[in-house]
Amino acid sequence: MNMTPYQVHGEVAIIRTVQPPLHALDAAARSAILAGVRAAESDEAIKAIVLIGTDAASPGKGEITEVKSQFGFEEPSLGTLISYIETSTKPVIAAIGGLCMGGGFELALGCHFRFASAGARVAMPEVKIGLCPSGGGSQRLPRLIGLEAALNVIISGEAVPAGMLRDTPLFDGITEGDLLQDTLAFTENVVSDKLALKRARDQKVRHAKPDAFLLLVRNSLGAATKNYPAPLACVDAVEASLGDFDAGIKKEKKIFLDLLSSDEAKALRHLHFAERKAPHIDGLSEGVVPRPVTSVGIVGAGTMGAGIAINFLLAGIPATIVETKQESLDRGVQHIQSFFEARVKKGKMQADEASRLAALLKPTLSFADLSNADLVIEAVFEDMEVKKTVFQKLDEICKPGAILASNTSTLDVNVIASFTKRPMDVLGAHFFSPANVMKLLEVVRGDKTADDVLLTIMLLAKKIKKIAVVSGVCDGFIGNRMIGGYSSEAAKLLEEGATVQQVDGALEKFGMAMGPFRMSDLAGNDIGWAIRKRIRAERPEMKMPTTAMLADKLCELGRFGQKTGSGWYRYEKGGRTPQVDPAVGKLVEDHRATHGIVPRKVSDGEIVQRCIFALSNEGARILEEGIAQRASDIDVVYIFGYGFPPYRGGPMHYADSVGLLNVERAIEGFMKNEQSEPRYGRVASLLSQFAIAGKTFN
Ligand code: NAD
Repeated sequence: MNMTPYQVHGEVAIIRTVQPPLHALDAAARSAILAGVRAAESDEAIKAIVLIGTDAASPGKGEITEVKSQFGFEEPSLGTLISYIETSTKPVIAAIGGLCMGGGFELALGCHFRFASAGARVAMPEVKIGLCPSGGGSQRLPRLIGLEAALNVIISGEAVPAGMLRDTPLFDGITEGDLLQDTLAFTENVVSDKLALKRARDQKVRHAKPDAFLLLVRNSLGAATKNYPAPLACVDAVEASLGDFDAGIKKEKKIFLDLLSSDEAKALRHLHFAERKAPHIDGLSEGVVPRPVTSVGIVGAGTMGAGIAINFLLAGIPATIVETKQESLDRGVQHIQSFFEARVKKGKMQADEASRLAALLKPTLSFADLSNADLVIEAVFEDMEVKKTVFQKLDEICKPGAILASNTSTLDVNVIASFTKRPMDVLGAHFFSPANVMKLLEVVRGDKTADDVLLTIMLLAKKIKKIAVVSGVCDGFIGNRMIGGYSSEAAKLLEEGATVQQVDGALEKFGMAMGPFRMSDLAGNDIGWAIRKRIRAERPEMKMPTTAMLADKLCELGRFGQKTGSGWYRYEKGGRTPQVDPAVGKLVEDHRATHGIVPRKVSDGEIVQRCIFALSNEGARILEEGIAQRASDIDVVYIFGYGFPPYRGGPMHYADSVGLLNVERAIEGFMKNEQSEPRYGRVASLLSQFAIAGKTFN
């Protein structure tokens, strides 16, 4: 069947919404659908109209602008279109295949009948970008599937298989066969039997005790949605469906517009687009095709290696894991097995599925077993000499065309590539800990990394459910490089008069998943200590800030963090809850006295500004140097790798929302109050340029 948007089949007009539902309904698409419906209505030979969505359009670059424009209310607005369809005197039948979400689903709710394929799923994902439905979805869905089920769909934003709603008035039929043909057969019956047109707006929402139920829902959402107004606002909108339909539509629109202009919704919308932009590779040569990856090798079965292996096993990709010692190999394998056992115990996976996936792991002590792997990821100690031995060995063993990746957090990927005779096949694949939990993957593009190698890893990331961001080579790549300035601001604030718990508390209140001192205790304070020792050895002339001495002192006392039971905080044996430790307070006081620092009162506002703007400022440098492809990638890194609050949109979006001129002025202010060595160094020139030009990062 050809793919024209309007087609006549006997007495039935078929209108195709030519793009997948969520991104179909920009003004042009709405006009096209409306024109189709009007043409069908004015044609006497047409007795019924079928609206069918297609998944044919690929979610490419176009998607981003289209999603943006669908928020517009320009006529024909989604509401106008849907109510036009709903009041049509000819039966309109929605044929739902694939994923039908957002405006597309709302459009289907306005039709008189709905017919779905067995694999179809429906969703109202607006809440995920800080919004509520805007095309009457909050009013029609409860009328069709009931208050409770509708709230579940709208508040979760998750896709629901059509089959789960099979017994509700939402669907008039679900087919295992050809969607269009079966919908047309159904439509013929509608016409021949002169079935009454069913309009959702005419139904009543049924619930025995709606008030008590809504109170329960609101209470259960409570604290969890503190910084996200949308879920509770969605409850308000759905509540309106209990009353008059037209008043409910008005209320939904008002709630939607209020949410639309909220900072949270702006940030979440930014994040939505940022996530979709992240995998796009700038400057990729034309016609590049990815290399096939059907098996992977992992070198090192430590903390990261084992976690990385789990990602591939979950995706059904066989993984060979290599270690030097049986004991280390056993530990890694045990970790992986425990992961699958826990999944089964928690009811997240069937036992036979877990056994099948776990059996895709091949543990070995022989590097030769990597000879057939399409991709090898190295996750051995963070030591250039060890990496050198491993990469030289991989170069000898791996088949031509195999991709060689390093999980290094800080080492130079170009140097690592130079250990092989195939630097074009080498790149960084920086997973975050725990590697099977954290969504972020920084893909480090070396000077010689081939385009197809980069493309392969960016696409593979999606298969293993990671959000990949391209980074250039620099110390710490995007994320860890930025954390440097952030942590040193935190340490400076401590030196100047704040307490460990005040700094963490202020940043956690801002929304960071964990304050910088808690984070350092979790990661291990010895990591920074080792880096400082390395820098001192490499650059003895470099003057270390006094804060480094404070952090060194902590480590000299063996306070490495959670793993040693003490760090910036104290921890009960085996516990993870940080307890304020007066010994640290004393350490800080002695440190101030030694360096003649007179403590002052530091406000929470100053803590947040200095630490967060340190991120934005370094992010601007990273952008200026071309290390990150775009500002939104930096936001993605911080949200998915460093616990930055999604409702603030990331450090670059946050700076944009504060206003770059204000950020610049604030940073200049901090520098003026400098007691000792420069902190920020300078305001990043890109930040100043943008501030003066009235531009934003994103
Ligand atoms: P780890 O010490 O837990 O594990 C390293 C493993 O590599 C050990 O089991 C060791 O036996 C094995 N190994 C050492 N030399 C080997 C060799 N020649 N051949 C095979 N195996 C060898 O370390 P980790 O925390 O998993 O870190 C691994 C890499 O990942 C490092 O480069 C690190 O910087 C990076 N990384 C770590 C984290 C983290 O939070 N731990 C996060 C991101 C990246």
